[in-house]
Amino acid sequence: MDLKSKAVSLFRSSFGAEPAVVTRAPGRIEFIGNHTDYNAGTVLGAAIDRGITIAARLRTDGAFAFVSDNGAPTTTVRGRPLTPQQGGAAWVNYPLGVVVALEGRGMPAVAGLEMAVVSDLPPGAGLSSSAAFELSTALALCALQEFTLSREEVVKAGREAENKFVGVPCGILDQGVSGFGKKDSLVHIDCRGPVFSLVPMPAGVRFWIFNTHKKHALVDSLYATRHKECMDAARLLKPSKPGAQWLADFSPAEFAAAAAALPAAAAKRAKHVIEEIARVDAMGQALKSGNLAEAGRLLFASHESSRTLFENSTPELDFLVATLRGVPGVYGSRLTGGGFGGAVMAMTDASFDATAAARVADAYAAKFTDRPDVLACATADGAAVV
Ligand code: ADP
Ligand code: MG
Repeated sequence: MDLKSKAVSLFRSSFGAEPAVVTRAPGRIEFIGNHTDYNAGTVLGAAIDRGITIAARLRTDGAFAFVSDNGAPTTTVRGRPLTPQQGGAAWVNYPLGVVVALEGRGMPAVAGLEMAVVSDLPPGAGLSSSAAFELSTALALCALQEFTLSREEVVKAGREAENKFVGVPCGILDQGVSGFGKKDSLVHIDCRGPVFSLVPMPAGVRFWIFNTHKKHALVDSLYATRHKECMDAARLLKPSKPGAQWLADFSPAEFAAAAAALPAAAAKRAKHVIEEIARVDAMGQALKSGNLAEAGRLLFASHESSRTLFENSTPELDFLVATLRGVPGVYGSRLTGGGFGGAVMAMTDASFDATAAARVADAYAAKFTDRPDVLACATADGAAVV
């Protein structure tokens, strides 16, 4: 059964009625641009052919009822103002946060809601199921409330829900790619605007995800430390360039000339961010000219920079990237997402198939005892009513 039929059937069996709208929103791969977003840099991401589909209908009794096919407890929330839920019910904070964010943008107050959620996107795999959830909710609410909003504002409302209501300080990448994705394209985001644009992807490229299921126990504080190191570095570099405010304001050459002002750790983080932004630009050029070998080289270079300068890789991710480097058909590979565990992505041609991917997973299992999940992905369109 396709996801739309599944969502409609879950809605019928849960609420005994027909949904008024069905929407879907894709997950995403962070293609290149690691920790560049909060430094006002650029990033390239791909919307993928896995996502979240929602069937929904308004109600008028003030109740917000949510059911998911992923084992999350069926949850009904009553009463205003809407406040974040705790414990097992916390999963409904994504759609509730979107209700609040859209009402804050002038959408008529929602008098109640029924929603069935189905997904073929593994949560917590670095593919941003949270943004897919937010974007599919936002489009459903806009349709149900006959409320027109630009795609930019829909994307910002999704991020606001995650930042303010769920309480995760994510950048604009996840929602931007889920909202603006296009089949056979990458989404380019200049996080300063943010400004969204599309970069065509040469034909015949495939994406693979190897998810290690391992996250550093201190991942939140490691993120916070990196964030602070970047802000400190920008502050210390500022005097060397009038008008500069962010790491993104420095070219690699300008950074090299001023780097002596920085403590060692801040200098490494800043070098990673500034050179990574230059790699995003170079990637745009490589893709434009169809130079997939160069695109792959940039992916490996990004990983190497994460490993040695930003220090947000792990032995597991390094092993996967090093293993993939020697495999025919692999253009390039790097950790994807925030790092400190999580997943690796690979860009390949069609000769790299499920058997080749399983061999990589075997090699990993021989070294680390457990097996990474392997997902083949293709690019796909962004969030839409279906
Ligand atoms: P990621 O975005 O990388 O997948 P997050 O931790 O940001 O990981 O978001 C995952 C959370 O989103 C889950 O813990 C859950 O609360 C919610 N979620 C994702 N998919 C679903 C789903 N199909 N049904 C219910 N909740 C979901
Ligand atoms: Mg997320």
